[in-house]
Amino acid sequence: MSDNQLRLVWIYPDLLSTYGDQGNALVVERRARQRGLDVARLDVRSDQPIPTSGDIYLIGGGEDRPQRLAAERLRRDGHLHRAVENGAIVFSVCAGYQILGHEFINDLGQREPGLGLLDVVSVRGEKERCVGDVLADIDPQLGLPQLTGFENHQGVTHLGPTARPFARVLVGNGNGTGDGTEGAYNGTVFGTYMHGPVLARNPLIADLLLKLALDVNALPPIDDHWYEALRNERISAAQQPA
Ligand code: GLN
Repeated sequence: MSDNQLRLVWIYPDLLSTYGDQGNALVVERRARQRGLDVARLDVRSDQPIPTSGDIYLIGGGEDRPQRLAAERLRRDGHLHRAVENGAIVFSVCAGYQILGHEFINDLGQREPGLGLLDVVSVRGEKERCVGDVLADIDPQLGLPQLTGFENHQGVTHLGPTARPFARVLVGNGNGTGDGTEGAYNGTVFGTYMHGPVLARNPLIADLLLKLALDVNALPPIDDHWYEALRNERISAAQQPA
């Protein structure tokens, strides 16, 4: 962070903002401001260059065609790589997660190269689409409570040797490989299948992104009772038999 200002970049809201993932940007922005931080939020449309000076980058989910267009434009742009090399934090959801991997299957049924920022490869699932509430244990190294989210994807994501699973599912599919993993991370680059929006359901993940950006171990606590109410409601929903 420079000038005591947190730069939050929301990538391609015109292509990747279905399923309420815009909420992730709102939650990070609000929780940063509640800690007295000056926040500059940049919503970067797909015809604009990605800035390299961001602290936290968010990428949402999307349908198959916008996902291919977003991958083409991000590859051509090239700046997200540079930002990560400079230490930026990236948090991606579903289509955004698949784009950060080595490749995925696009809307034309072809293998589409991703950005290779996560050591994962996504293929098209042969089974039914994964849809529903999810409950998962986040990697204990990250020190976070249970993950709650909503998944809606056809893609199945396989982790390579350098990717760590973000979480292990208790209810739902996550990466869809049958190995119980959900999402992945490499250093400061995170991917998850969870919508919800996931940072509204799991505000301590937003705080983790802020702590990484500020390079601190703790943040001043804030009143989370509305978040807790939402979390508890969705955790019970996930635990109901289908
Ligand atoms: N199009 C991708 C899939 O179905 C991602 C969907 C999403 O972002 N929810 O796997």
